[in-house]
Amino acid sequence: MRKKTPKPVNSVCAVCFGPATEYHHVKTRKSGGTDDEWNLLPVNRKCHILIHAKGIITVSDSRNYLLQWLQRNGWEIKKEFGIRKLRRI
Ligand SMILES: [Zn+2]
Ligand SMILES: [Zn+2]
Repeated sequence: MRKKTPKPVNSVCAVCFGPATEYHHVKTRKSGGTDDEWNLLPVNRKCHILIHAKGIITVSDSRNYLLQWLQRNGWEIKKEFGIRKLRRI
């Protein structure tokens, strides 16, 4: 049985700073992402939809908190062949 992803407790949304209600996997489960803290971005429903619609890199351009969260948890946005990608340091 697959372990259920935990729900955020007393966390703030990394995008809008409101109360977080769920987690976004920065690296998706499909590509081997885990439930480790550095991979679980606390968000609320609204911002989660925004991330999936626009992409985390695009959203982080306009939301300073999100960029700070990513940097704090060991992610960096790197440009490779003109395309910006999120990478683990
Ligand atoms: Zn939010
Ligand atoms: Zn997600």
